[in-house]
Amino acid sequence: MILFENVSKKYDNDQIAVNGIDLEIKKGEFFVIIGPSGCGKTTLLKMINRLIQLTEGTIRIDGKRISDYNIHELRWNIGYVLQQIALFPHMTIEENISIVPELKKWPQEDIQHRVRALLEMVGLDADKYSQRKPSELSGGEQQRVGVIRALAADPEIVLMDEPFSALDPISRSKLQDDLLELQRAIQKTIVFVSHHMQEALKLADRICLMKDGEIVQIGTPQEISQNP
Ligand code: ADP
Ligand code: ADP
Repeated sequence: MILFENVSKKYDNDQIAVNGIDLEIKKGEFFVIIGPSGCGKTTLLKMINRLIQLTEGTIRIDGKRISDYNIHELRWNIGYVLQQIALFPHMTIEENISIVPELKKWPQEDIQHRVRALLEMVGLDADKYSQRKPSELSGGEQQRVGVIRALAADPEIVLMDEPFSALDPISRSKLQDDLLELQRAIQKTIVFVSHHMQEALKLADRICLMKDGEIVQIGTPQEISQNP
């Protein structure tokens, strides 16, 4: 589904952030990229939806080079969740979640159904929350909305860059549980960046361990924990 062929990224300052990576991420897989700060995790992730341009190699999604996709088609079909909560403050929760479905010109009725269903999936009462502004939600609730917003237009792939690291341990653990349940229900391909091994072991189907722009180990949580 997502295929990296000898992919490298060199920044303008000659920093080689990602160095000759070959990698296959399977359809429906919960794939966690882990490693110390600065090892290239975010760079690897952002190359998938072309937020960062690669310098060498090829990335393919369903066999097609990402450079051959229309950029809107690519971005609208790949959900993206960041560490910093990035909801639009002047828009209601419903409007925030509706952004990509609106861009894709879904019928209003379908959008409203979708918003409701997603809010309920992460335990937020739609009647209570859909017309609120982000500032009227707790950090954990806002991050839930960030996660479901990325899923709103039913993308096949969701990229997540340390989505829970700004949260307290209890909210974090609860959101991890919710995300696992959500993933089991919807079967999307999730590429998740983390620097916490505990989090990776809990969430991943497979873990990829990076160091200095390269992959040093890749395997299931069981394989990784038996052979650290
Ligand atoms: P991680 O997500 O693992 O913390 P990054 O992918 O953000 O790592 O960064 C990998 C390396 O590339 C780091 O050394 C970082 O300083 C460098 N880097 C990241 N973004 C840029 C940029 N825009 N310009 C120059 N160097 C960058
Ligand atoms: P994150 O890893 O969560 O994306 P960072 O704090 O590493 O956050 O980076 C914030 C922004 O600064 C990113 O857009 C990244 O590309 C850029 N950046 C990171 N490292 C460097 C660097 N060494 N030189 C220039 N830009 C950088």
